[in-house]
Amino acid sequence: MVESDPSLLLRNVGLLVTLNSDLGTIRDAAVCIENNRICWVGRDAELPEKYAAVGNVKSLPDRIVIPGLVNTHHHMFQCLTRCVAQESLLFGWLTTLYPAWEFLTGADVYVGCKLAMAELILSGCTTTSDHHYVFPNDVQLDDCIKAGRDIGIRFHPTRGAMTLGKSKGGLPPDTLCEESEAVLKDMDRLIAEYHDNSRFSMLRIGLSPVSPFSVEEDLLKKTAVMAQKTPGVRLHFHLAENQEDIDYSLEKYGCRPGEFIKRTGWNVPEAWFAHCCMLDNQEMQQFADNGIGVAHCPSSNMRLASGIAPVRKMLDTGVNVGLGVDGSASNDCGHMLAEVRQTMLLQRAGGNPKALSAREALDIGIKGGARNLGRDDIGEIAPGFAADMVAWRTDTVGFSGTGPDPVAALVFCTPSLGFVDLSIINGKVIVEDGKFASMDLQGLIADHSRVSQKICSRIKPQAPHDPIK
Ligand SMILES: [Zn+2]
Repeated sequence: MVESDPSLLLRNVGLLVTLNSDLGTIRDAAVCIENNRICWVGRDAELPEKYAAVGNVKSLPDRIVIPGLVNTHHHMFQCLTRCVAQESLLFGWLTTLYPAWEFLTGADVYVGCKLAMAELILSGCTTTSDHHYVFPNDVQLDDCIKAGRDIGIRFHPTRGAMTLGKSKGGLPPDTLCEESEAVLKDMDRLIAEYHDNSRFSMLRIGLSPVSPFSVEEDLLKKTAVMAQKTPGVRLHFHLAENQEDIDYSLEKYGCRPGEFIKRTGWNVPEAWFAHCCMLDNQEMQQFADNGIGVAHCPSSNMRLASGIAPVRKMLDTGVNVGLGVDGSASNDCGHMLAEVRQTMLLQRAGGNPKALSAREALDIGIKGGARNLGRDDIGEIAPGFAADMVAWRTDTVGFSGTGPDPVAALVFCTPSLGFVDLSIINGKVIVEDGKFASMDLQGLIADHSRVSQKICSRIKPQAPHDPIK
């Protein structure tokens, strides 16, 4: 369990990107943090005397500091099974992996989540959701929650579920599916035990039956009703991911995604949906009119050849768009800043260099994500906001030569920038000088590799591309 430092002062910050409309971007800045909230932001030279006396001071020249990135779609356990089914579409990829996931234990999921969170934090993320939907053996959402608490990330775990097995016409094997009543009971338990809707909350529970091809319609209806009972409990679901997904819905339910969410009670502002590559114009308008969010996952969509989500059109229609790295088995990494870059590049791939700017992409990755999670206390470095921020060194190979616009360089030059130099979450220093302050990362990697080998040994061998001798 991570406690907040009593107070922290960042001085001589090379460049501070506040994302606050009044404060803007400040050179040679200072930020004062009291416990878990920001209390003062401005030019270092103008720091009020009462704040200058703070004991814990960090000097950050040659750094660019931004509000922490917000990840709104992930399946963290999947980082145990990366680079599998390398040339499959969504359904083929899933059916290759399901049999291996049946062997996961609670301890495996804990290690998988912790490594995924470490990867997110090192790549600039300070708040994340996780959509966990496989519960074989002794696995519980509590395993993901424990990982989040131990590493100190701001966390929105969502209780996923699959109830529509192969025998009922769904995609997953029956052995990975649960009974709806048991799922609902566990959702109730998790909300009662963990959900915290207070300002600066470190943990809020969400409800997330998986997808049209893996859950019964009735479970969707009941979770929508359940979410309305507790403020801050939000709804998350995969929707309109690719053409197979649309075809399945048309055949099984006789309707497109927009109609499907209306008839299940999910056409509400508490809902945010992953992917949405195949939304049509009418559905985008429906999302905008009802305050529904989208978690755009560009790397996963490219990897599985799912399609290009019409992000430019969504933004122009008024749909809130946030980002998700998606599960680490279809990305196959959980690098949050890289996802910001992919978002910008993928919108341009259609032929328009003005389709999305670096700043718009960064805004989506931070503020769009905060809105998806229903939060107005993160996403800016400004007084009254949660003390969540990250820094990269600018005296590095990747930044060299980007002098005129270091903010854009964060997005254009991501692969060469390396991991963050500093990560502060809820006022606590989690990463300093590029290293976790209180976690043995090498030990975690060793544990994770061992578990991964065990799980991957259950996957049916793929045709070797280039056998390693
Ligand atoms: Zn997903």
